[in-house]
Amino acid sequence: MAALARVTHYIDGSSWDGPAERSSTIYNPATGRATSVLDLADSDVVDTAVASARRAWQDGWGTMSLTKRTKILFRFHELLDRDKERIAALITAEHGKVLDDALGEVVRGLEVVEFACGIPQLLKGGFSVNASTNVDVYSTRQSLGVVAVISPFNFPAMVPLWFVPVAVACGNAVVVKPSEKDPSATIALAELWREAGLPDGVVNVVNGDREAVDALIAHPEVKAVSFVGSTPIARYVYETATAHGKRVQALGGAKNHMLVLPDADLDLAADAAVNAGFGSAGERCMAISALVVVDTVADRLVRKIKERMGALRIGDGTRGCDMGPLVTSEHRDRVRSYVDAGAEEGAELVVDGRVGVFDADGDGFFLAPTLFDKVTADMSIYADEIFGPVLSVLRVSSYEEGLDLINANPYGNGTAIFTNDGGAARRFQNEVEVGMVGVNVPIPVPVAYHSFGGWKDSLFGDTHAYGTEGVHFFTRGKVVTSRWLGPSHGGLDLGFPAHD
Ligand code: NAD
Repeated sequence: MAALARVTHYIDGSSWDGPAERSSTIYNPATGRATSVLDLADSDVVDTAVASARRAWQDGWGTMSLTKRTKILFRFHELLDRDKERIAALITAEHGKVLDDALGEVVRGLEVVEFACGIPQLLKGGFSVNASTNVDVYSTRQSLGVVAVISPFNFPAMVPLWFVPVAVACGNAVVVKPSEKDPSATIALAELWREAGLPDGVVNVVNGDREAVDALIAHPEVKAVSFVGSTPIARYVYETATAHGKRVQALGGAKNHMLVLPDADLDLAADAAVNAGFGSAGERCMAISALVVVDTVADRLVRKIKERMGALRIGDGTRGCDMGPLVTSEHRDRVRSYVDAGAEEGAELVVDGRVGVFDADGDGFFLAPTLFDKVTADMSIYADEIFGPVLSVLRVSSYEEGLDLINANPYGNGTAIFTNDGGAARRFQNEVEVGMVGVNVPIPVPVAYHSFGGWKDSLFGDTHAYGTEGVHFFTRGKVVTSRWLGPSHGGLDLGFPAHD
């Protein structure tokens, strides 16, 4: 058998050529076969990457003119657009999502690069002439230095692109730690930054697991941490990194509800439930996993969803299928155990994903979509984030009961309401305790110039990702009060500076 390819870190503008004490295996989830071996960083490798970033920031990136920085951002945008299919193929090979979906995530990432290209406007600050007599006051925002980005497996290109372009545009240098399950797309992005003319060391990638994360979030030179992953790890990263004095935004897990009112267009709602429930095999932080339906229309809606599920093709993401495999065999087994649990707990199993036909070679990590009806809030399939193709229908008697259910859930990432009643939709958007809300839109991921972030257990920290909040996160404010003396001096005055 041919030796597996080695995937390693990207530090100071080139692939790491040092030794690796530890490694892990990367699989193609559609075939179940090992494809490469990944070096896992220890604290020495993290130190090397942080030192490279620190040098790059200090030696010029932090003070490079906005004109020069922006040119690199525009160039990076061109290159990413040129290579988007190649990056999508890397994602499909390691994550398993279908090619169209992988391309979609790169395109959403490109939008953030477009936003970051406007950095001269975003960093303009404010200027008050003559705030006091002969005194001008101006606010500026300056870069932080070295920042860390730690990303999950489910968006290996888009999540790094939520943060890195904005961080870099603001004048920081970055160390990215992608998921050890599918790091190749993130590494390819770092290579494209170099091709775009970014100085070596401004973007580095270290691969690893908890050891690398622990080294990064405690590192004295790392000033800010952007983390995305499951809620327990997000909470841990937030608490640890803030205890080390860092600025942190830690985006966690989700349980996203879609509320369907009796006047909704049920065909639109059924399409949306299937797309948002099973797209990317349910491995999206904005996936709909709980369908909250007012019971007068529940039977009809469940029938429509079941019909649509019958038409889905599941298999290797390179073959034009609708849905690919789960990311690992362990994760597939975990999701399947929830289907077992739901059936045992008394939910009505409308479509059983444990049986399915898959268009793929080998022994991929497949599980077909599952639909449960008459799920109640005490069942584990509702209480836990499953992160797989399992959709639960919860029946409620009214808008109020649906809203209370959603607001009682500890997560608050995304939600959607399906209705033709503008007044109900307006009430919902004001009353629901969730950070991102869709009205007849099932996956309301904000565009790049609005910020992305959930509430409650879906985000620790107070700044959301990208948009103006991203710029705020990656810079710190400074206010200058200046007076140029006129021909005569003011004389001594020991009072607190007041304005005249
Ligand atoms: P994860 O929490 O297992 O891993 C996320 C990152 O943390 C990875 O880089 C991983 O290597 C690292 N990590 C894992 N275990 C760690 C530990 N014990 N200590 C320190 N670091 C550790 O998440 P995942 O399985 O890669 O991704 C799926 C999760 O991410 C889901 O919960 C999903 O909802 C969430 N997610 C949230 C958002 C959002 O915007 N809120 C976006 C995408 C994914």
